[in-house]
Amino acid sequence: MKNHSNFSAPALAIAAVAAFAFLSACGQREPDTRMQSFSWPTMGTVAEFTMRADGVTAERAQKLAANAFRLVETNLSVFVADSAVSRLNRGETIRLASDSPLANVARFARETAEASGDAFDPTVNPLMRAWGFRGGTPSIPSATTLSNALESVGWRRLSIGNAASGEIVISAGGAELDFGAIAKGYAVDLAYDRLVANGFTDFLINLGGNIRVCGSPESGRKDWNVAVRDPSGRRPPSPLPRPLRSGEAVATSGSYERFVEIDGRRYSHIIDPRTGIPVDNGLGSVSVIAPTAMEADAYSTTLFVLGREAGAAFLSTHHACTAVFIGQ
Ligand code: ADP
Ligand code: MG
Repeated sequence: MKNHSNFSAPALAIAAVAAFAFLSACGQREPDTRMQSFSWPTMGTVAEFTMRADGVTAERAQKLAANAFRLVETNLSVFVADSAVSRLNRGETIRLASDSPLANVARFARETAEASGDAFDPTVNPLMRAWGFRGGTPSIPSATTLSNALESVGWRRLSIGNAASGEIVISAGGAELDFGAIAKGYAVDLAYDRLVANGFTDFLINLGGNIRVCGSPESGRKDWNVAVRDPSGRRPPSPLPRPLRSGEAVATSGSYERFVEIDGRRYSHIIDPRTGIPVDNGLGSVSVIAPTAMEADAYSTTLFVLGREAGAAFLSTHHACTAVFIGQ
């Protein structure tokens, strides 16, 4: 899979799941027979759900997670003609509950765009198209194509205002919204919250490399060991700097799984909205450990664009997060 990059693209990205490996805590010990695992295609990628429970309980929990992913997809996919995002992209103004998926994702995308100094931008889609990430034969865009695309990009057009109590009014202001860098993280949080609210625990959710854990992987053990795949594929996966505690999330953004190839060169599916050019700063991947999967998702993309130096400055104002930068 090369040039499907939006979260809702129909093709599967098996490789994305391999970005992380849940390192079974056991090593020499017998594997826990109560560890149930499920894997299924959703949101243009693959979801994995692992839970320490009996089969019936784990299956009920998995169904709940799958429903949460479907709900997010129905609301945020640009491939679903009547999704809220598709309607916004057609120029409609929408009134919706302020705790709905679209409201949460749009608010946090705007906040991240501002905090990142425009490195993160949920309106990059015209640039994605210009480079061939949305179909057709990828080619280097002409200066005119690039400047036209750049002109239509800009998260500041996105307007979110308060309506009646508990409601907001939102419009894209002529921009084209694409929440591909944040929606999977939000979907993981929604599934996580619903699972916890229903009393489920001791599980790991992995939606295309967006992971969140709850409870513990085995009795008497609190932490989950997770490893990040080496972007070059030459080195073995490396463990995160620390295990994940219950409730924590981690996500990875990289150029090695989704890219287009033009004249034998690979171009990353993460584009710097300030220049219109796919990121090429020597980084292979950035992983972020954060309190929620939406933060981990948005910030891993942001840091991939910012690079190590500006990324460090961004992190200094986001104390709850830990980042791992890996070179190409
Ligand atoms: P993945 O979707 O592989 O998990 P990311 O979370 O990093 O990876 O999201 C990348 C997707 O986000 C791209 O495919 C594109 O849809 C969108 N995108 C690309 N560049 C940016 C950017 N600078 N800011 C926000 N979104 C971006
Ligand atoms: Mg992301």
